[in-house]
Amino acid sequence: MIKLEPGSVIGILGGGQLGRMLAMAAAQLGYHTHIYCPDEKNPAEQVTNRLSRSSYTDEVALIRFAKVVDVVTYEFENIPVETVELLNQHVPTFPSAQVLQVSQDRLHEKNFLNKIGVETAPYAAVMTEGEAVEALKIITYPAVLKTRRFGYDGKGQAIVKSPEELSAAWAMLNSSDIIIEGFIPFDMEISVLAARGQDGEIKCFDPAENIHKNHILDLSIAPARIAPHLRAQAVGIACHIVAELEYVGVLAVEFFVSSSDPVFRVNEIAPRVHNSGHWSIEACPTSQFEQHIRAICGLPLGDTSLYGRAEMKNLIGDDILDVALYLKDPDANFHHYGKTHARPGRKMGHVTRILPTVGTNKKSI
Ligand code: AMP
Repeated sequence: MIKLEPGSVIGILGGGQLGRMLAMAAAQLGYHTHIYCPDEKNPAEQVTNRLSRSSYTDEVALIRFAKVVDVVTYEFENIPVETVELLNQHVPTFPSAQVLQVSQDRLHEKNFLNKIGVETAPYAAVMTEGEAVEALKIITYPAVLKTRRFGYDGKGQAIVKSPEELSAAWAMLNSSDIIIEGFIPFDMEISVLAARGQDGEIKCFDPAENIHKNHILDLSIAPARIAPHLRAQAVGIACHIVAELEYVGVLAVEFFVSSSDPVFRVNEIAPRVHNSGHWSIEACPTSQFEQHIRAICGLPLGDTSLYGRAEMKNLIGDDILDVALYLKDPDANFHHYGKTHARPGRKMGHVTRILPTVGTNKKSI
């Protein structure tokens, strides 16, 4: 187990808003950060002590980076596994390369979850349209076709409601690495942010209810408006996943919840801090970002209890133009990610509001 003293340097792969908020949490605990990312004008560089702008495959730059940091972590999961393996030869790197290997491929992820007894949608990996036709005889319609790798915010996926829709969906995805999932008629999507320390200590945040618009997270509400025993069930599954992975850091587990289905089905896991946990910055004594830094630096994990009911609204594209409105609202905790161009669909910031009681349940399962 490594325990880093304040003043140590945390290397972060990726320079997006998650890297930015990790760097801010690291500074709060007395650490320095060094962002490594290929992109220019990234949100994290405004708040970090040091920056390396190089590609994730530049071995010389990666080794140079590894030699000047005390630990490495990452803020997004599409970093090559080999990059994390190389870094780990020179400096402790959390979460591990094996975790990335599992979560980067939807097939590996579902195989792993089912192996440890966690339910998912029924699924099959297929390489040709003919194999898809055969698999759909078992999975049945409606179903969701997804590329196995590099999908996010609904990209790289298509719903097929009938055999007539299959060819168009297959052509649109244009890949031979496809996973077909049974369509889950969920009532709600929830997520649990789970943290595991190097010593095996585990703490979870309350499950959040997630509402999407155009496949992008719009609103997260914590705690999710489901019965307390269901919340406990979701937390139990998330704890089981991080324990089985021997994970270090914060990991997000996304679930489908359906009143007609007695089991919780995991949609996916993300080996990093997550958009659906941003409310924890104001709503909990320890935010998901601080918790991640604590875990990778060998500090005890912090308290994750909620001060009240939290609502986090993503500010997407032009939503950020309403900044004056949020600044006037005494209940709005406003976050701007420092991005200059508000393209449609781009996450520009978020606003969190804390309601003092947990009682206002408009919807409940
Ligand atoms: P994903 O990229 O896997 O997180 O999927 C994006 C969104 O598509 C999810 O948040 C769900 O709203 C929807 N979705 C994905 N897979 C399924 C499924 N098997 N059944 C129903 N809806 C799904």
